[in-house]
Amino acid sequence: MVVIGAGAVGENAADYAHRAGLSVAMVESELVGGECSYWACMPSKALLRTGHAVAAVHRLPGTTASFDPQAVLARRDSFTHDWDDASQVEWAEGAGITVVRGHARITGEKTVAVGGEVLTARHAVVVCTGSTPVTPPVDGIDTVRTWGSREATSTKDIPPRLGVLGGGVVGCELAKAFQRLGSQVVLLQHGPRLLPSMEEFAGERVAAALRAEGVDLRLDTTLESVAPDGDGIALHVAGESITVDELLVATGRRPHTADVGVETVGLEPGKPLEVDDSGLVTAVDGGWLYAAGDVTGRAPLTHQGKYDARIVGAAIGARAAGRPVDTAPWGEHSATADHAAVPQVVFTDPEVAVVGRTGKQAREAGIDVRVVDLPIAVGGSSLQADGYDGAARLVVDEGRGVLVGVTFVGQDVAEMLHAATVAIVGEVPLARLWHAVPAYPTMNEVWLRLLEAYRSA
Ligand SMILES: Cc1cc2nc3c(=O)[nH]c(=O)nc-3n(C[C@H](O)[C@H](O)[C@H](O)COP(=O)(O)OP(=O)(O)OC[C@H]3O[C@@H](n4cnc5c(N)ncnc54)[C@H](O)[C@@H]3O)c2cc1C
Repeated sequence: MVVIGAGAVGENAADYAHRAGLSVAMVESELVGGECSYWACMPSKALLRTGHAVAAVHRLPGTTASFDPQAVLARRDSFTHDWDDASQVEWAEGAGITVVRGHARITGEKTVAVGGEVLTARHAVVVCTGSTPVTPPVDGIDTVRTWGSREATSTKDIPPRLGVLGGGVVGCELAKAFQRLGSQVVLLQHGPRLLPSMEEFAGERVAAALRAEGVDLRLDTTLESVAPDGDGIALHVAGESITVDELLVATGRRPHTADVGVETVGLEPGKPLEVDDSGLVTAVDGGWLYAAGDVTGRAPLTHQGKYDARIVGAAIGARAAGRPVDTAPWGEHSATADHAAVPQVVFTDPEVAVVGRTGKQAREAGIDVRVVDLPIAVGGSSLQADGYDGAARLVVDEGRGVLVGVTFVGQDVAEMLHAATVAIVGEVPLARLWHAVPAYPTMNEVWLRLLEAYRSA
């Protein structure tokens, strides 16, 4: 099997296929470990973590805490191993995977060219090439220096003034990180709210917290044009000019299929590789081309891509060995959770932890929905922080008596998310969930309050 792209997803597909008995070559044009390890999840969370810990300390009386932004950058560097992938290569080779350096292009059925070499797969080619940032067509954007998430997460300097374009997850997280690291951040969001794909109260709470810490947040704002301004960049919005030292463009990503040779097998470059639940690319015959991770456009998150990759690797292994393949919903070779049970955390402060559908998405899917909303105000949360301010929502499928969505917003809610994911994936009846007693005094007591509210209405 040949894997194109050795991000977290490619590594998992390779590992699982190798464990299932195949020999595997994994081709990487940059760093083995991909975006998540070097420019996305890990460095961004390292930039956020110290500020969150210090803010949490300040919510307890009688405490003092502060931090050195340079120490945060140094800690970030330790997580990215100074952008050296030796340890990941060592892992891959130790796991029995052959690592090939270079840019890979599909050249036809089961063949992949890397430089002058052609790799021919006996069983399958798996495309795990990730995604690339999208830059919107703003007047003058080509005339100024811009940051993508890579430049932001790998920066060696904290810009005194940072413009952030885009109020999705990446924009919100990095606005928070840099404001706390010492930048004056101005965040421009085209639409009326932050985190538009999530429950409205999540974006509202994140917006209020950003503003409370001094971020100049402008909703419903279009960046009309940009221009160089001395060493900085002038942002023109609503008749006003705002000068920043760096401009982070965080306006989304698209699947990375532009230069992977997909046209040689009849696919359109630049489009996502649509797959079935076992990861097989549906538009290509012959059962040899698979894809997983951001490149499929299904659920562009590391953990979900790795889930897909485990399934792809196992499915290829089973098919190659002539073993049964179970692609029924929730079967061993079906990435069923991608459809309606994807967990995600926005590591702002407050954190936003979501899984499954929002109330609106559930209604649009034709589900008979009941929504239960409560503040997170239990013994556990009051101990966690003085004046703890959080909110929780359950989205219940009334017809089946199960949860289809959960959102928590507040300090330290990320670690509460997996219980919600288990409840949704397990389709645990609410009547049974009533018997899942949260330990006292933890923030999980909010589950009890939510179920009480549901039962008493
Ligand atoms: C700032 C930021 C923060 C994020 N934070 C989180 C988070 O906290 N949690 C989370 O779950 N997700 C997070 N994400 C999303 C996460 O980074 C992606 O979902 C994940 O990296 C996707 O993994 P992947 O393996 O599909 O792609 P990638 O990690 O992009 O890996 C693809 C690899 O393929 C290689 N490649 C591409 N084309 C070729 C070719 N033709 N030949 C050879 N190699 C090739 C690339 O060099 C790359 O190494 C974040 C994203 C960003 C931008």
